[in-house]
Amino acid sequence: MGKQARDDFTEPVKRKIAERVNFHCSVCDAPTLGPKTGTTDERFSVGKAAHIKAAAKNGPRYDEHQTPAERKAIENGIWACATCADIIDRDPDAYSVADLLRLKADAEWVAKIRAGKPPGSELSALSDPTAIKRAVDLFCSRESARHERIDPRFKVGVRMGESGPTYEVTAKETVEAQIVVTTADRERNVQALRDFFNYGGNLLLDGADLRMEGSPLFRTDGVAATRWQFSSNPRPLTMTVVLAEDSGAPLFIELDGSGTQGNKGFRLQGKACGGMLTATLTADYSGGLTDFTIGIDTLQWASKPVNRLPHFSRLQQIVERLAVPIQARILYTHGELESEFGTGRFDGSELFRPLRALFGEIAAIRRLDEFFNLKVALPADITDVMLRQCDMTWLLDLINLATSGEMEVNFYATSGQATPLKTILAAPPEAMTFVHHVDLEIYGRSYGPFDVEVSCPAVGIHVVGPADIEAGATVELAMRAVEGHHWTPRLIARTPERTMV
Ligand SMILES: [Zn+2]
Repeated sequence: MGKQARDDFTEPVKRKIAERVNFHCSVCDAPTLGPKTGTTDERFSVGKAAHIKAAAKNGPRYDEHQTPAERKAIENGIWACATCADIIDRDPDAYSVADLLRLKADAEWVAKIRAGKPPGSELSALSDPTAIKRAVDLFCSRESARHERIDPRFKVGVRMGESGPTYEVTAKETVEAQIVVTTADRERNVQALRDFFNYGGNLLLDGADLRMEGSPLFRTDGVAATRWQFSSNPRPLTMTVVLAEDSGAPLFIELDGSGTQGNKGFRLQGKACGGMLTATLTADYSGGLTDFTIGIDTLQWASKPVNRLPHFSRLQQIVERLAVPIQARILYTHGELESEFGTGRFDGSELFRPLRALFGEIAAIRRLDEFFNLKVALPADITDVMLRQCDMTWLLDLINLATSGEMEVNFYATSGQATPLKTILAAPPEAMTFVHHVDLEIYGRSYGPFDVEVSCPAVGIHVVGPADIEAGATVELAMRAVEGHHWTPRLIARTPERTMV
């Protein structure tokens, strides 16, 4: 078999192809010409004119419909550095005809905007947003190609962010690499990295704090960046925590989140109630649960009106359950697949008991706010809620009389003679009304005065104690609503003080 016919480019054609991109590689932008070492009048070239559609049968992207003239034409050539040209010629699937035509057009476009301008000024000379975008996209794809050539074991994605390019380096195969933590906060960073490799997740570290070893790629200007973000592929999932009480229906908490895996185990993280409730579960593959935490962040309530706190009732319900050690069952759903993680005793009382007190206090303020229409806002610092507690138990008991089921209102009486008290006790039930004057101070602000009228259509008087009624002794008495009736508190318009004439 004879030598196959090749439609090679002539020297003038090659030269023109190169000149149209100013002798830069059309793929990676590397300059391809320089002075030959040890000479004063010769040049050294690492550039090649590669065929977009092959010069000969069986070559990459060969097009049998092309005429020999078309095959040898400037339009069928792309200028590239030796390395990029080798990939174009020897790896037929690396680039399609369309890819190469686009690379060529981009390279010629760049040569055009650069011509006659000092280096680096071409971007600022671009006034048209489309042109700027094209230049940026080109920069990113060239940076990506340039880096992938440095270490082909990695895929390098380059994106232009607000503060410069971001390089996303993904290993295509298993790559041995070392991370050397270099700076002062060593202990903490090492712990964070260990934790990341053990259980996966997302970790952001300052580039000044560490050095990556294992690939020349890690040392390029682009990749050895100001910050390193490590992330293992998180899988979206739903975590369900079931809090079971001996008595009463179990409480279901559904959290949306993700699961990650590391060398040692996995971690599930989820959020609910607009992010105010978070849960993290860490477990080893060997089966042991190493950590399960639930957190509630009340910070977003700061300065908010107490009657408009997002998720208050739901969170209070959860806090109530968690304030005592409780049986917890954990399930998670990934896609269609539901798995049960396990059941265990959750004891978060150290965290949730103070939180229960906080919720109780806020609930009390909410009730007062509702009854008196106060429009109270929480303090800017949530810890102030507990520091500036208002002990309003008696008032809450009073305004809750209608719903609490409490039948009695107690009071003390002292009489000079035992007989009048006995007479009162013997009287048949009758309607009663009394009025409380109330002044309130909440978080440093005064409210009121208010008048609260408490009434009941049928009330009998009973002795609470002591049983023996003696003249001059104080007796605690109860005004008890007769069966079928109850006390009703209501806020009444304040009447001006009446002056006795
Ligand atoms: Zn190149």
